[in-house]
Amino acid sequence: MNLADTHSLQASFADPEWLAAHWMPFTGNRQFKAAPRLFTAASGTHYTTADGRQIFDGLSGLWCCGLGHGRPELVDAVARQLATLDYSPAFQFGHPLSFELANQIVARMPKDSGLNRVFFTASGSEAADTSLKIARAYWRAQGQASKTRLIGRVKGYHGVNFGGISVGGIVGNRKTFGQGIEADHLPHTQPPSGSFFKGMPPTGAELADELLNLIALHDASTIAAVIVEPFSGSAGVVIPPVGYLQRLREICTQHNILLIFDEVITGFGRAGAWTGAEAFGVTPDLLNFAKQVSNGVQPLGGVVAKQEIYDSFMQSGGPDYLLELPHGYTYSAHPVACAAALATLAVMEQEHTLDQVRTLAPAFEEKVHNLRGARHVADIRNYGLAAGLTITAHPGEPARRPFEIAMSMFKKGFYVRYGGDTIQLAPPFISTPAQLDSLINALGESLSEVA
Ligand code: PLP
Repeated sequence: MNLADTHSLQASFADPEWLAAHWMPFTGNRQFKAAPRLFTAASGTHYTTADGRQIFDGLSGLWCCGLGHGRPELVDAVARQLATLDYSPAFQFGHPLSFELANQIVARMPKDSGLNRVFFTASGSEAADTSLKIARAYWRAQGQASKTRLIGRVKGYHGVNFGGISVGGIVGNRKTFGQGIEADHLPHTQPPSGSFFKGMPPTGAELADELLNLIALHDASTIAAVIVEPFSGSAGVVIPPVGYLQRLREICTQHNILLIFDEVITGFGRAGAWTGAEAFGVTPDLLNFAKQVSNGVQPLGGVVAKQEIYDSFMQSGGPDYLLELPHGYTYSAHPVACAAALATLAVMEQEHTLDQVRTLAPAFEEKVHNLRGARHVADIRNYGLAAGLTITAHPGEPARRPFEIAMSMFKKGFYVRYGGDTIQLAPPFISTPAQLDSLINALGESLSEVA
């Protein structure tokens, strides 16, 4: 059924009670329900709204639909899998797709990285908490149970579960929920407003040395892992300074601390490489992924571990029918999600998607930085096919302007994300240069129109 075509549904859009039943995530429910923005179909780079308008998808869904919408290859793969094996437990039994997908993912990890064991989840938040639990359990398996401390970063985003919000550093996501698990935070690497760096900031690598202070304070014997996004999306696209991730890697290695890369946004194409690890030339011990791995059409995430981490669990002794890690989700390695991911990777290979991203990225960088000097723009950051703009604060209401800019864009036929004091762009990998022009031109207009 095409819901948008049904008369009763159209009427429902105007019914506050009907709208109230869904408590929407990460949304100003009151504002939304007063003027709903509903997508009822999607194809290629565009959504169709309930009132029949075409909206360019300037955030690839939520950073996950780089190949665009309604891809026949993915539709077919999902439909075939649903008809063949709609569900299989991944506990105690298995199905071949998960093993094939694990191998396909491993093949796309940086060469000689040793990242070759994949644990599946159904989301990025689950991947974050899984990686933190693996890190702690790893040290315990090594006989170093005192290594429990977890270190994230200010402005970090690692999803919404308790581990993720504890190591995360977006204040708004934490303050509502009280005490999480104990965690420390390194400083963020966002350059001061007005820097307008293209790509990686040239300075700031020394910010990684703050880890040495935390080691001095707590002792490395208490620290399990450091978790960072190679570049962050949710904080408004914050790019690592040249040499920063290398420095972090060196310190972690020297002090026997695991380094986790949360690649939920940077993985599978957004950075113009299969991983941010590859793009930035730094190998973590655990690498989290989600979103683009299945082009967003089915929920899938996971953690890729170095073999030595996996092996330490396998060698922990005990009868071989006993599980080595008491962790997993009902929807871990869901067969339909695995089918979607296998089809996504196949399309990306066939269409040379990484080349496409690398080809589009320089012009995208130029275009987005042309907004320097536009009204309300305090800073612009970019990498690959991602960009973030810091918007000057509306007096007394710092988050208002980004919201109004996004609403103005929606009226013009463009979906972009507003978050904190930023506007975020992550257009589909299949965008044409002309579409990217239109996106940035429309943003320029919205910036000048908003008070
Ligand atoms: N980690 C990072 C870096 C993310 O950007 C996100 C989502 O944006 C998550 C984790 C959470 O993923 P999910 O929403 O699938 O739980």
